[in-house]
Amino acid sequence: MGLDYIFTGFENASPIQWELDESGVAHVALIYDRERLSPNRAVLHWHFQLQGSAGSEVELLIKNFDNIWNGKMGSPIRNGAACAVSEDGENWSVVNGKKTDENFLDLKVTLPSSGTLYVARIEPYRISDHVRLLAEIQGHRDVMIEEVGHTVEGRGIEVVRIGREDAPYRLLLRARAHPWETGGNWVLEGLIREVLENTPNFCLYVMPMCNKDGVAHGGSRFNSMGKDLNRDWDEPADPVLAPENVALEQWLDRMKEKDMLPHLAIDFHNDSSGKIHVSRPDGNYETYLNRMARLEHVLTEHTWFTEGSTGSNFKNAGTFGEGLLMRYDIAACIMELNCNWSAGLSKAPLGADWMLMGQQMRQAFIAYFDDLD
Ligand SMILES: [Zn+2]
Repeated sequence: MGLDYIFTGFENASPIQWELDESGVAHVALIYDRERLSPNRAVLHWHFQLQGSAGSEVELLIKNFDNIWNGKMGSPIRNGAACAVSEDGENWSVVNGKKTDENFLDLKVTLPSSGTLYVARIEPYRISDHVRLLAEIQGHRDVMIEEVGHTVEGRGIEVVRIGREDAPYRLLLRARAHPWETGGNWVLEGLIREVLENTPNFCLYVMPMCNKDGVAHGGSRFNSMGKDLNRDWDEPADPVLAPENVALEQWLDRMKEKDMLPHLAIDFHNDSSGKIHVSRPDGNYETYLNRMARLEHVLTEHTWFTEGSTGSNFKNAGTFGEGLLMRYDIAACIMELNCNWSAGLSKAPLGADWMLMGQQMRQAFIAYFDDLD
């Protein structure tokens, strides 16, 4: 009885080291993602498969959560972690892990009848899931899939248009700048399906998977060159270090030339607070702040989102929201999705919950644009 092996030979698995101690507890050491020319490091993703005897109770002590973010130490598991587990990799449920005094994550699971159990930070959304969605919607009369650039390792990055180019309003949504943060992919899938069912007053443009290299390698935060794709938006991106951001900048430049820049842009992320992040540059941005307040209002009214937005002192320079505002005059922000708890649903979130939020967002964005002066 017990654990035989921890398997990582599959798509989106995280690199780990592991060993069993005398009492049968599995010690799992995750590997930090490192930022270039920076003290910053991050472990936020884990995804592996336990293999052992059916019915075994397995205790895991997962470590390396001494993350450094914006130059400051911080634990990503200070509130514990609502981990996703699945026997088949398709149907997931939640098991809560607790933080120990050593900043390890203590997770207890029971192996199902097959003897195998996937364990992940949050419900995975793999490159194959992204490919499946694109294959499904390709060919629809309102869908245009455009490859706009490549990752450091040469993977194609798409911007997908859903809707008519001559719609009165344009909305740009990006997901997966940070590879562990799958919530945005689920939201986009829900929204895309809903918009295809019932045409709204806006044309939807999405970059569904920005940091594909990180997703492929089971990484946490940075791209293959150690760049954070939600930083340095205050100036043009470096084509060698951050070609993923260059791809979006060039797309924005082409839209600007056509006088077709988006009216609203949101970059989806996951964290353990789940707020809309409105970075406030110096100067008078009253119109922008009013639009962000309007966005918060319509999302709260039409979706299960309840977490609110960052306060009047909040500034996170160089992020997507501030960069697109300053350089392209687009009302843009970051939307964090709480990875541990969905307050509006009173449960720990799974993919289907974020899909539901995406479906509900169609009506929220219609209301947002209806009120745009
Ligand atoms: Zn993020």
